[in-house]
Amino acid sequence: MSNCLFCKIIKKEIPAKIVYEDDEVIAFDDIRPQAPVHTLIIPKEHISTLKEATEDQVALLGRILLKAKTIAAQKGIDQSGFRIVLNTGPDSGQEVFHLHLHLLGGRRLGWPPG
Ligand code: 5GP
Ligand code: ZN
Repeated sequence: MSNCLFCKIIKKEIPAKIVYEDDEVIAFDDIRPQAPVHTLIIPKEHISTLKEATEDQVALLGRILLKAKTIAAQKGIDQSGFRIVLNTGPDSGQEVFHLHLHLLGGRRLGWPPG
């Protein structure tokens, strides 16, 4: 999608601190980190929100989830714990309409979330 911020990061039109990349998935650190570790894991295929995800994207969705786990280990927060967030729609505060997982950790996270 030409006007999508994260598609531009995928195409390297906008710089980002990329921590992982393969043919289907890319992960980069959030520009406004809310915790010592705050990484975004996204499918390269443009999916606006979880609402648009379909059965044929089940494997891709599973892949980004497992990649979040791997990156948590690489960032050294797999033992201390971490949170995966997938904001969807207005009440969640979703700002970027390209499906992404937030990987958050490195400090004690509050619950319930604000
Ligand atoms: P959302 O609120 O849509 O779930 O999360 C979007 C996230 O993208 C926010 O945490 C925001 O800080 C991050 N973000 C917005 N613009 C950029 C950018 O240009 N680069 C990076 N690395 N992160 C961004
Ligand atoms: Zn996109």
